[in-house]
Amino acid sequence: MKDYKKALQSKGFKATQGREAVLALLDRNRKPQTAAGILAGMRKPKMDQATLYRILEAFERKGMVKKIEFKKGYAFYEIADQAHHHHVICTSCNRMEDIHLPHELEDQGRQIEKQTKFKVQDHTVEFFGLCPDCK
Ligand SMILES: [Zn+2]
Ligand SMILES: [Zn+2]
Repeated sequence: MKDYKKALQSKGFKATQGREAVLALLDRNRKPQTAAGILAGMRKPKMDQATLYRILEAFERKGMVKKIEFKKGYAFYEIADQAHHHHVICTSCNRMEDIHLPHELEDQGRQIEKQTKFKVQDHTVEFFGLCPDCK
């Protein structure tokens, strides 16, 4: 089991029970989750939404958590130490899942560099559609 206290302290955080609980939940459940989903999955401590958002924003600033905002006001959070991947999102029920693209697609950055003379450093690709329950 990971030492969340140490992980928090190494990023300059005081290891409060709330921060530890949020980090542990995101680490154990390695998929994109909404703030509401995180709150629902958290047994203790009791936390209000404002506190949770403060913790998530602080984690995001320190690069511990990635925020994926696919439409205004609807964000997902996932632990940041995962291998590079993408997402597919259900436009009906807002469910989001991780996906991996073939190497040919991941290598598009080089084509784009040739065409534009940009130095490509990162990319995001999200797919939208209907999940099995909604289609
Ligand atoms: Zn759906
Ligand atoms: Zn990619």
